[in-house]
Amino acid sequence: MRILVVEDSQVVSRVMRHLLTQELNCEVDVAPDLASAKNLLAENDYFVAVTDLNLPDAQEGEIVKLVLAKQIPCIVLTGSWDPQERSRLLQLGIVDYVLKENRFSYEYTAKLVRRLQRNQSVKVLVADDSMVSRKFIRSLLEQHLFQVIEADDGVAALDTLKENPDIKLLITDYNMPRLDGFGLIIKVREQFSREELAIIGLSSDSDESLSARFIKNGANDFLQKPFVHEEFHCRVLNTLDALDMMAKLWEQANLDYLTNVFNRRYFFNLYEDKLPTITRNKGTLSLGLMDIDFFKKVNDGYGHDVGDEVLVEFAKRLKHSFSQHFTVARFGGEEFVVGFKGLSVEKSFALLDRFRMQMESTPIMTTKGELTITVSIGVANFNHDENVDGMLQRADVALYEAKEGGRNLVCIP
Ligand code: GH3
Ligand code: MG
Ligand code: MG
Repeated sequence: MRILVVEDSQVVSRVMRHLLTQELNCEVDVAPDLASAKNLLAENDYFVAVTDLNLPDAQEGEIVKLVLAKQIPCIVLTGSWDPQERSRLLQLGIVDYVLKENRFSYEYTAKLVRRLQRNQSVKVLVADDSMVSRKFIRSLLEQHLFQVIEADDGVAALDTLKENPDIKLLITDYNMPRLDGFGLIIKVREQFSREELAIIGLSSDSDESLSARFIKNGANDFLQKPFVHEEFHCRVLNTLDALDMMAKLWEQANLDYLTNVFNRRYFFNLYEDKLPTITRNKGTLSLGLMDIDFFKKVNDGYGHDVGDEVLVEFAKRLKHSFSQHFTVARFGGEEFVVGFKGLSVEKSFALLDRFRMQMESTPIMTTKGELTITVSIGVANFNHDENVDGMLQRADVALYEAKEGGRNLVCIP
């Protein structure tokens, strides 16, 4: 990815280059004037341009037109606050008008570029019966590189969501035929939580209670029409940032930090939720509890870092073997578990024994050379009158038998 910075001040261009390369994996070209910007633009494809308005050979913001004519998103970074110029440029379709005030302005600009990169993979659905309004919102969203889909009423929006369950943001008008904004939100929230899909309500209605009602019905935010560019973008960005933050929190709470497989908490919650249904449907479930053999020797002999490498590779192999159909989790230390929903204890025994043999015959490559690692496994099936703990206790007894029996074994209690 290439970014163009058009800036005659060396101090500013240095700061921008530093912040951009820190924030993103990108190449940064700097042009100190319009003439060199023209040359660079003719030779390279740019993801975005960050431009000053006042250049030695072009003091009237000519650079902006040049960048926009090439269909390159343009962020204006300027030292002069000119409200008229600012709204004129925003109308022209620049991404943002940032005032060079302090280091936060530069950090803001670098973050904005990263968001543009992220936005390319974010699908936004715009539900509005007014075509003019839809097109306007589409153009604002496209300035920020979002993927935009339109729907002309609530029913069409529901159909579109069914076809595109990866939509991350729904922007919906209130007054629409067939199904209005409230009706739409209520239906959408039956399927998608606030963490999965964000909703921003819109209305030109002067009824002041609308914003609160939108939010009470499940919207994340609300915008009164008509709105200015910047307010729109700020609300969209804040809403999506909150979504990203929630996703991060979820990961921190449910994934193991070292191996990136699910953690103990996730595993327990998942099966505590599933057990009643499995019991009701007389379904089957079994699990394999496993513990790497003599793992302490790996740490003692090669160091804790190599121990970590072994854990990461072990988890990777578990995931590769099982996670497409089953649930892999790290319980802590060198102890892992796989939940086999729908499999009898005999079937999961067969799969786990194959995994055990693969471990034994395929050494793990570490920074201190190849290490052969073996694993002991206890398998238990789910009795319909017990909870996750009960099943795990029996798997643990079987694991103990595997260790007692000489290790590198799979046992059933
Ligand atoms: P056994 O065959 O009986 O299971 O022997 P073991 O040595 O594997 O079992 P033990 O429970 O005595 O030792 C487990 C070791 O795992 C001790 C602990 O320091 C180490 N360990 C726990 N968590 C981590 C980790 O995240 N990274 C590394 N490198 N080591 C860990
Ligand atoms: Mg062990
Ligand atoms: Mg252990």
